[in-house]
Amino acid sequence: MSTKYVFVTGGVASSLGKGIIASSLAKLLQARGYSVTIQKLDPYINIDPGTLNPYEHGECYVTEDGAETDLDLGHYERFTNMPTSQANNITTGRIYQNVINKERKGDYLGKTVQIIPHITDEIKRNIKLLGKDGKFDVVITEIGGTIGDIESLPYIETVRQLKWELGNDALVVHLTLVPYLAASGELKTKPTQHSVKQMLETGVQPEILVLRTEHQLPEDIRRKVALFCNVTPDAVMQSVDVSTIYEVPLKMQEEQLDVVVCNKLGLPVEKEPELKAWNSFLYNLKNPTQEVEIGLVGKYVELHDAYKSIVEGFIHAGAANNAKVNIKWIHSGELDEKNCEEKLAGLDGILVAPGFGLRGIEGKILAAKYARENNIPYLGICLGMQIAVIEYARNVLNLKNADSIEMNEQTPFPVINLMEEQKTVTEKGGTMRLGAYDCTLIKDSNAYKAYGKENISERHRHRYEFNNEFLAKYEESGMIATGRNSETGLVEIVEIPEHKWFVGAQFHPEYKSTVVNPHPLFVAFVKATLKNNI
Ligand code: GLN
Repeated sequence: MSTKYVFVTGGVASSLGKGIIASSLAKLLQARGYSVTIQKLDPYINIDPGTLNPYEHGECYVTEDGAETDLDLGHYERFTNMPTSQANNITTGRIYQNVINKERKGDYLGKTVQIIPHITDEIKRNIKLLGKDGKFDVVITEIGGTIGDIESLPYIETVRQLKWELGNDALVVHLTLVPYLAASGELKTKPTQHSVKQMLETGVQPEILVLRTEHQLPEDIRRKVALFCNVTPDAVMQSVDVSTIYEVPLKMQEEQLDVVVCNKLGLPVEKEPELKAWNSFLYNLKNPTQEVEIGLVGKYVELHDAYKSIVEGFIHAGAANNAKVNIKWIHSGELDEKNCEEKLAGLDGILVAPGFGLRGIEGKILAAKYARENNIPYLGICLGMQIAVIEYARNVLNLKNADSIEMNEQTPFPVINLMEEQKTVTEKGGTMRLGAYDCTLIKDSNAYKAYGKENISERHRHRYEFNNEFLAKYEESGMIATGRNSETGLVEIVEIPEHKWFVGAQFHPEYKSTVVNPHPLFVAFVKATLKNNI
């Protein structure tokens, strides 16, 4: 069977949830036995989102192979439970960089290098790369941005060319918005019609329309859209707002998105989708037996997307514990000695988030101190682990002004130091310690109990590390390195065994938490916050 290609585009407005629709379709096809991968094409000129401020674009998601990618890839992995890679996220910047590199090498043999065919060929190559070797039955490609954006034009043109080349092996799912006018009590289809017209101007006829709406769409609206937009009535589907994104695959199954896609691509649909694990997760998610409140201390808390994978990690781990995790967003920059008690008292757990730079550091240190002194379960992720180490140095080991070299190069006690291989690095983009590294756990530690095994592998994104010159001092007084990389000796996890549950991880567990495989550290952390857990 030849690989099938599905393109997911969006019109009318941004933030309609293309990533969730793409992920839901992938989940449904996978549940029917097909192997699927999802790719995101981002129309911006950055080579990758690694250098973007989280306020700009939300979290930067890191894959196994160390690619710094768009946060939608997190959804893809959480829904499909399949790892993605660099090939799953391409930006305009990367496309142009590749083309310009080829031009400099002389690969274009004196030709004038142009958007068509050279840029579109490079986009095509990157889409087809995932379909090579027959590894996947279906490749779903989400096109970032909204139809009509100047930036997305080369991508839409590529879709047009590919549809022509691939015939029935390719189709377009276009997501639009049907607004509800409260004053007249009407649902409006005109924006959808305009959006499809705009696609037609570029030569692309979408086969399936998914209409985002706050209200159920009556039959006549669907027929009208089908008529005006040249699609079959069964291919006009609604996507009504739901309380959790994890319900979307079931809602799209009700709309028969998977069946219509399969029929149009000539894929057999004999099997019923197997969604047992998914449904049992949803049941647990919707029927919690208790609630906990966990403080998320970070400096980008105004934009919750900056901590997307952490939030989702709590949703997965909450369901695994039959508990609802309420997140209290705490701005590290606003936390001080005076209001610390007021802001943190009563929390069942404290998470200090990853981050870069000086801003909000002292607030994070106060949060770690509060958790340690009051026996509140603590999970520190990446910078949050480094913060716990700095706090312990200052307040337990009496190393005055101990710090990370990142925050204070002159500190007399650099308990967090720049990694050796980072000392010669000058460029910022893609140069951190990135991606999966092994870690060996000490038996009887909280980490070992959580994972239930000695050897693990987790994803990284940092430049600084625990300074092993201080390790003996820490271990003598009660903070232990319970996870280390056996090749390099780098400390991956620190714990305080005397404490109820205090874990700092140099890696990012949140990237690997999925619906079907909630992350062991998140599950154990949430478990430690439960009231009846002694
Ligand atoms: N800024 C720290 C470092 O580079 C932590 C990074 C992070 O939290 N992802 O090591």
